[in-house]
Formats: sequence, structure tokens, C-alpha cells
Amino acid sequence: MNDRYSRQVLFPGIGKEGQAKISKKHVLIIGAGALGSGSSEILTRAGVGKLTIIDRDYVEASNLQRQQLYTEEDVLEKLPKAAAAEKRLGAINSAVEIRAIIGDATPELLEELVAGVDLMLDATDNFETRMMMNDISQKYNIPWIYGACVGSFGMSFSIIPGKTPCLNCLLRTIPLQGMTCDTGGIISPAVQMVIAHQTAEAMKMLVEDWDAVRTSFVSFDLWRNQYTSLKMSKAKFAGCLSCGEERTYPYLDHENMTKTTVLCGRDTVQIRPSNKGEISLDNLAGQLSALGYTVKGNPYLLSVEIGAERMVIFQDGRALIHGTKDLTHAKSLYQRILG
Ligand SMILES: [Zn+2]
Repeated sequence: MNDRYSRQVLFPGIGKEGQAKISKKHVLIIGAGALGSGSSEILTRAGVGKLTIIDRDYVEASNLQRQQLYTEEDVLEKLPKAAAAEKRLGAINSAVEIRAIIGDATPELLEELVAGVDLMLDATDNFETRMMMNDISQKYNIPWIYGACVGSFGMSFSIIPGKTPCLNCLLRTIPLQGMTCDTGGIISPAVQMVIAHQTAEAMKMLVEDWDAVRTSFVSFDLWRNQYTSLKMSKAKFAGCLSCGEERTYPYLDHENMTKTTVLCGRDTVQIRPSNKGEISLDNLAGQLSALGYTVKGNPYLLSVEIGAERMVIFQDGRALIHGTKDLTHAKSLYQRILG
């Protein structure tokens, strides 16, 4: 497949030299939902050297409308998104080294994963993880590209440590916290538009064309036909705790990490155990079946029916409890099943 990248090499912004650079770079994508599916596919097709992708969820029918890597078979198998993405991306371009991680993006895990990473892409659905990425970016001097979408609205911003303001600086002028839940639904073109902005910026950074990187905060509404580009050159805040002189990286503080979270826009609570360690899903399935529970699973997870709720348990002991937003109730179910 010698002419595999010929059209990209013909593009003056990339050329042979740019392609050689792309093939040596390592990108970390946090999230393998709608944004992560699209950006990982584009970068895999573009021939990035190494791609690490992390996700905590598994494929469900409601994902298929916009999460382009997944199929009906993945839904039937309840495959974790990271595992399904790894399989699909590997089939698209076998020359790319793909590492998929099924798990939650904790500060501890991110600090381990960023070794040797040239660039991070935001494909998360929650504010906490984005702020964590922002601190990691500043601490390890790795650029990252913010992206978010809801409904027909989307936005993106490129963050280069030491050069641009960081996401924490931006919070002083733009209320980004409300932009994280997809309770109002979402259309796929809005996702694709954010992916296009993020991956174009990614390519500029991978070929080290730093002057081409967009310095404004871009947002759009594809249904209302609105496009805005906000200058951010004055947004850098000297007292910022993430990128200022007296920085403390507040979002990497392990104590600040919530262990029980209601997932965005869904009747689902996630519980992460405080003690790390793998559990044997086979043994657990046996015990639960003996107790009369209906249990289904695959090598990565177990799904257990508990009355009106359903609990999905991963190897690391993390669980998603579907059918509730009540944290106390979810914790009592977790206790009942995992002791
Ligand atoms: Zn800052």
C-alpha cells in the first residue's frame, strides 16, 4: 500500500516531511464515544504512529446513530468501546500501533499513560475529566484539543502549554460547565463538525506547523446557522491554578476525585471501588447465578439484572448501575452484589 497516503502527501500543508512526522507521533484520545470514534478513525487513516484510546463504557444501541466505529454486533456482544474500537481501528490500518484501555480516566492512570505522548484529544463527556486533562497537559507540557457538542451545537479550542490560555483560564469568560450533558439529544453532524475541527488542529500539531494552529475559540450551531470565533489572546490568567506561576494542578488531586458519579444525560450511576485490584468475573458470575440472578457477559464485563435495575461490572471492580440516578440506592445495590 505504497500510495496509501498519497493524497495527504500531495496536500502542501503536510507533504512527505509532514507524513514522516505524523508516522512517528503518539496521540492519546480520552473517550471512545462519538468524538473519540471519529477522531481515532481519522488519525488511524492518516497514519499516526501510535494511538492510545481509553474508555469506561460499553457499546449500546443508542450509540450507533453517531458513534461511527461500532456495529450492531458490538451492541449484541456488549463489547467495551475500547475493545471494539481497537478491533475496528486495527482492521482500518494495521501499521498503526493501537493501545486500547478499558477504564476510567483517573489522574493516576492519565499520568501513567502520557509518557511519550505528543498530543491529547478530548473526547470525553464530562467536565471533571476535561479539567484533569488540562492539568496533565500543563504539568507534562503536552498540547491538547478541547471539543464538546450537544444538540446541534459544538465548540473546540486548541491548548498549547506556555503559549495559549488553558481551559481553566477560559472558565473565567466562557461558562463551559453546562456544555457537558447530552440531555437535549444530539445530531451526528454536530459531532462530525467538532471532530473536523479537532483533527485538523491535530494534524497541524503533528506536522509541527504551529503557526497554522487556530488561536480562537470556535463554536457553531448547525441548526440555527450560527458560527462564532472568539479571540482568546487576552484570556490567559496569571493567577490560574493550572497554568499560572503559582500553579497547584487542583484537578490532579486524588482526594478531589468522586468515586460515585451520575453519568451525563443517562439514568446511570458509576461506582469505582477505592481499593484497586482485578476481580474474577467468572467466579462472580457463578456465585450470582447460584443466587438466582440473571447474568450475561463477555470476557470484559458482566451484566446482572437486579429487579428494575441492571448492573454492569468490569474486571477492575467498577460498576455501572442503569435505571437509577439515586447515589445511595446505587451504592446499596453495589454492596449487595460485590460486598
Ligand atoms: Zn490557565
